[in-house]
Amino acid sequence: MTEPMFDRIALVGIGLIGSSLARVIRREGLARHIAISTRSPQTLKRAEELGLGDSYSTDAKEAVRGADLVIVSVPVGSSGAVAEEIAPALRPGAILTDVGSTKGSVIAQMQPHVPADVHFIPGHPLAGTEKSGPDAGFADLFQNRWCIFTPLPDTDPAALEKLSAFWRACGSNIDTMDAAHHDKVLAIVSHLPHIIAYNIVGTADDLEAVTESEVIKYSASGFRDFTRLAASDPTMWRDVCLHNKDAILEMLARFSEDLAFLQRAIRWGDGDKLFDLFTRTRAVRRSIIEAGQEVDVPDFGRQVVAHPEKS
Ligand code: NAP
Repeated sequence: MTEPMFDRIALVGIGLIGSSLARVIRREGLARHIAISTRSPQTLKRAEELGLGDSYSTDAKEAVRGADLVIVSVPVGSSGAVAEEIAPALRPGAILTDVGSTKGSVIAQMQPHVPADVHFIPGHPLAGTEKSGPDAGFADLFQNRWCIFTPLPDTDPAALEKLSAFWRACGSNIDTMDAAHHDKVLAIVSHLPHIIAYNIVGTADDLEAVTESEVIKYSASGFRDFTRLAASDPTMWRDVCLHNKDAILEMLARFSEDLAFLQRAIRWGDGDKLFDLFTRTRAVRRSIIEAGQEVDVPDFGRQVVAHPEKS
């Protein structure tokens, strides 16, 4: 049997992402000891019932003490407070990383608290579902998904390689980029689609009083596909909006311009413009399937049992 990569991995936050990490760490034997910490006794109790770790505490300092890898998986707006809390207990030479969906803001919040002898490497696994909490996690969540690191100028290459090896062992593909670029890319591929979904589902919900239950009854016509995104965790998405404000506003401005173009084409009966756009967008979906980031199943997401691989 090969040696575990780390002696003690501390997971601060044990929701969808933290608990998926706990499960894959265990399955792949990546740590001798998994120390779990979360702020509420209820979530901690659930993590313990699920047997996600080897030790459990609501005191994050206790969990990170002696850990050679610390992974912070809390809403991005809380990452500064968590970094401040755990900083005095971090072991010299430890790797400290996070999984937050925004990077510029997380670095600004966490970095000032990180001791000089700790390797702070911000990260973001592009993997998730609309579910939250420790029950929602599963070991295959990161399989064939990207994990993006946004290293700092003084990041130690050996520490970055060790963390990359860890995420590869969790099933991920690795990319690195600077934080500002990450935040721009994610604004378009993730944040904007969620905001659009929240908006359209909100609009339909407002209309529901007029149409009674028809929105739900006929939802398979398209609406349903937005509701999955719009069911995502409100705390997480509130924080993403507040913490990637500039990039999101820039993308929303672009989106509004393009929507006005579409509105104009419909108003003037410009079928060619509509057809050209819809042909272009269809090709985008084909390339996503070719890249292995979606399965080519008609009516995707409905026939398949949710996460048959869930452990
Ligand atoms: P989650 O399932 O809601 O779990 C959140 C965890 O953070 C819980 O352990 C919760 O503790 C803890 N927490 C919540 N508020 C806190 C606070 N103010 N201070 C300290 N701890 C707090 O969330 P998640 O989906 O795992 O997301 C965690 C991080 O991953 C977020 O930064 C998110 O941006 C990022 N991310 C999420 C996805 C996704 O699709 N969900 C994908 C990639 C990255 P209690 O339950 O004990 O209160």
